[in-house]
Amino acid sequence: MTSPEDALQQARATYEEHVRTCRQCHFDTVPCAVSKHLLRIYNNARRAQARPNSAVL
Ligand SMILES: [Zn+2]
Repeated sequence: MTSPEDALQQARATYEEHVRTCRQCHFDTVPCAVSKHLLRIYNNARRAQARPNSAVL
């Protein structure tokens, strides 16, 4: 099982690689469906890493 930090880095790497290589993301200024999907995974991973119960105020 991967840690939240690993998942976050992997999600970001996958997203950035897609943006770099996807023709539609380059051609169009609007991100394609795959890009949105990957960005959502990335945001979820980021949220999972910054858990509310670990935020001490
Ligand atoms: Zn794309």
